[in-house]
Amino acid sequence: MMKVGFIGWRGMVGSVLMERMRAESDFNAISPVFFSTSSVGGESPYVGKDVGVLQDAYECKLLASLDCIVTTQGSDYTKEVLPKLRSAGWNGYWLDASSGLRMDDDAIIVLDPINRQLIEQGLSSGIKNYVGGNCTVSLMLLGLDGLFKADLIEWISSMTYQAASGAGANNIRELLKQSGALYAAAKDLLDDKNASILDIDYRVTQELHSANFPQQYFGAPLAGSVIPWIDAGLENGQTKEEWKGGVEANKILGYTPDTVKVDGTCVRVGVLRSHSQALTIKLKRSDLSLAEIEQIIAKANPWVKFVANNKADTLRELTPASVSGTLDIAVGRLKSLKFGPEYISLFTVGDQLLWGAAEPLRRMLNILVEKHA
Ligand code: NAP
Repeated sequence: MMKVGFIGWRGMVGSVLMERMRAESDFNAISPVFFSTSSVGGESPYVGKDVGVLQDAYECKLLASLDCIVTTQGSDYTKEVLPKLRSAGWNGYWLDASSGLRMDDDAIIVLDPINRQLIEQGLSSGIKNYVGGNCTVSLMLLGLDGLFKADLIEWISSMTYQAASGAGANNIRELLKQSGALYAAAKDLLDDKNASILDIDYRVTQELHSANFPQQYFGAPLAGSVIPWIDAGLENGQTKEEWKGGVEANKILGYTPDTVKVDGTCVRVGVLRSHSQALTIKLKRSDLSLAEIEQIIAKANPWVKFVANNKADTLRELTPASVSGTLDIAVGRLKSLKFGPEYISLFTVGDQLLWGAAEPLRRMLNILVEKHA
């Protein structure tokens, strides 16, 4: 049985990975060891068998005894630990949710329904680092899978609506604390049906601007507001999150850089879970009807759920609330644009903790387990 170490299992992505692995009985096929950066000796998560207490995530000797390490801890951990393991001669598989290694030549970004062939080539050529892609990118590629397979896309402009949980466990807590603070500020007026709506608005706005408003992790109000900035800034005016859209999409597809141009604006919104994107797409052809495009998108893979462009279906099936906790990639609001017959737009939403993070890693681990058997 493969010996597999898990680091970061109690974080946002790690928790969802544990949940999925338990649901699919994945732990039966491996011998797991759990690590922590903060509570060594504490209790390991329940996986249906005895796995001992939490080990020290910086203990390289123990890490080096493993066949595979799955980390959802973050880039800083990867940058600190992986070079030490490799320079000590460790040749095991490193599976990682963070962005640190994604663009390295000796790393494959894994999204097996899209790039299983690249993964197989990587395994045959001895590549040992397999990294989950940026959540928004993976969701976009699954949603547009059919259009990519048919080589129909010239460029994509993506405007994202990204959930608080995309920034981690402490951020989701902060969004809920912010929401609670706004409600508390106006509660007595909300209970009084004769209260003036401008008084309610004034109280909430005062609370948003209050020095005590909880914003340690986001650095700004998210409840009652949006934050049009995700990750670090680059010199060209993009954020790193926006830059990832283009470079990672082309790498996952096995294209040379910029084969398909992807750019846009990434925005954090007060959603708990699941990232949405409004995509404007320039197609390479101008003779396709919307019905043909719908068929191409809808039939691409088992997870795409095409949603008809009407209000009732959109409200029922094309929202973060409707897809969260599922592997569905909802795609809808498909329409032609006035710019010309080759321009379309659509809206897509998927759970960024599942297909955007935990699921590609879980499936990659299973590919390794099958090969190891
Ligand atoms: P996270 O929730 O902040 O968890 C990372 C680590 O923070 C945990 O393993 C835990 O380590 C520690 N931690 C500190 N306070 C915590 C708390 N209150 N609850 C739980 N854990 C806490 O980060 P994440 O969102 O899972 O992201 C991990 C990596 O995946 C990052 O590199 C991120 O960029 C990437 N990623 C995230 C998403 C997403 O949607 N969130 C999607 C794709 C990729 P200890 O147990 O060792 O203390």
